[in-house]
Amino acid sequence: MQIEIAITLEPIDLRRALPNELAGSAGAVVEFAGLVRGEENGQPIAALEYEAYSPMAEREMRRILEALAVAHPCRYVRVTHRVGVVPVGEAAIQVVAASAHRAEALALVAEFMDRLKQDVPIWKRRAVLVAQASCRCEPASAASSETASRQDLEPHRQDACATGEPRAASASEVLALLRQLGRPLAAERVVLAEALGRTLREPACALEDQPPFDRSSVDGYAVRLDDCATQFRIVDEIRAGDWKPRELRAGEAMRVATGGALPGDGLQVVMKEDVHVEGDRLTVLRRNEERNIRSRGEDARAGQALVEAGTVLQAGTLALLASIGCAQPRVTRLPRVLHLATGNEIVPPDQTPGRGQIRDSNSTLVRAFLAPWGIVPEQRCVAEDEERLKSEVRSPKSEGADLWLISGGASVGEHDFTRRLLESLDFTIHVRRTTARPGKPLIVAQRGGTLAFGLPGNPLAHFVCLNLYVRAALEAFAGRTDEAPDAFQMGVLAADLDGGGNARETFWPARWELSDGAVSLTPLRWSSSGDLTALATANALIHLAAGAGKLTSGSQVEFSFTTERA
Ligand code: AMP
Ligand code: MG
Repeated sequence: MQIEIAITLEPIDLRRALPNELAGSAGAVVEFAGLVRGEENGQPIAALEYEAYSPMAEREMRRILEALAVAHPCRYVRVTHRVGVVPVGEAAIQVVAASAHRAEALALVAEFMDRLKQDVPIWKRRAVLVAQASCRCEPASAASSETASRQDLEPHRQDACATGEPRAASASEVLALLRQLGRPLAAERVVLAEALGRTLREPACALEDQPPFDRSSVDGYAVRLDDCATQFRIVDEIRAGDWKPRELRAGEAMRVATGGALPGDGLQVVMKEDVHVEGDRLTVLRRNEERNIRSRGEDARAGQALVEAGTVLQAGTLALLASIGCAQPRVTRLPRVLHLATGNEIVPPDQTPGRGQIRDSNSTLVRAFLAPWGIVPEQRCVAEDEERLKSEVRSPKSEGADLWLISGGASVGEHDFTRRLLESLDFTIHVRRTTARPGKPLIVAQRGGTLAFGLPGNPLAHFVCLNLYVRAALEAFAGRTDEAPDAFQMGVLAADLDGGGNARETFWPARWELSDGAVSLTPLRWSSSGDLTALATANALIHLAAGAGKLTSGSQVEFSFTTERA
């Protein structure tokens, strides 16, 4: 199937013809055009603004179309998606499919539109209200085609709606958003010692056969396989590292150490334990079928890909790379992280707080949380002063950070400045708060390739937001987008847990351990997101749906591990 995909800022030409070569061969041509409606959430609008992460969107669309073509074979399909400001009545998307019969093309277009909503990172950025339209976009024009089909492209994420004030985002919406916003960072070559935990960006192939030569797998004596004698003369010794090719004659043996390169073909190594030696006289006491040789290429052949691109490098993988001479693998670079702990009340942990002050625990939490990723953040404590914060983020050390973590000030209080700060620095605010607890105040913002989080200062909320959302961003930066960030594990409650019917979904701190082969979760005590004591032992978060009531010990629950790399 011929596939054409375009993501464009230009108006879509709905009259564009099919490629010439299809004329006469396609029995059916189905066209779908999604036009922007003049209303959004009950408010009149002048336009919708769309945003896309184009490389991934194009890739995803192609993947979906190729998969659908298996069930609905078509000759040709063209998808054109417009981004930027799309005035009311104009097309945001056009899909054209040509097939031998109408059924395939109809089914392919319909299923593609469903999948597009779910899987492709194109989303409505905001609705342009009628009053704003004059300064934001051209006046709305009439629909440019007789195609009357309309689509209702649901946003994939928390968007500003027509009233200007966004609704709170659920945890899974925030996670899905982060997966789309966080672009895999560039690749770099690093030495193996620095590559632990990084994502490999190109396949690593064996340069030569593994093992590269026939090697003895035991300490013993090499003799000809076809020489059935029991008495031999030892003619030489081979230690690991030696290279002594020679043809053994009947009655000759060579002493070989484990790992030693065999002198030739057609040999067997009789184990040291199975012989008796006196001077250069060797008597074989026992001999069986076992050749005790690791043959050249038995583990891998030269040119064979041994580690795939996308693999997260663990200790074993690094050892393999070392063995095949891949001493500087090409991996995703680490994000540069800036962490600002804000608040007039916080003092360093080694100081005695004055009246009204508390010790800063979030800086330690952030540093320790990032350590397993190999990330050392640039950290500073800043008083609640917008100008000071601005100068901090503009300092040479902060410049170029890929990820900003701002602790505190994420809420809606008078002194909660994070959102104002980010807006004044031209960040687009995608999330302002969540429907989850702890961690209701949460800001997610973006400027180009930089992601910024405004994290709630309360320590338990901080812990939850780092382990859920910041982790998802780090995974996206690392290019690990194949992992569903909200794919929870299942575990068993070790004690009763009362969700209290709370209207918000809850991430309940817990301690997991293995019991009878299953993950057993002990819920920890907490009553406020400012509580710290649960952090002494918390290593998991139990996910309770909104409205969850009493769960008895033994119930199955969703949970996610914390402080570990997935
Ligand atoms: P905020 O998010 O700034 O409104 O802060 C919420 C709560 O978290 C307040 O009680 C703060 O004192 C506390 N808090 C803020 N930053 C920190 C920090 N770095 N360490 C410990 N607690 C903090
Ligand atoms: Mg504060």
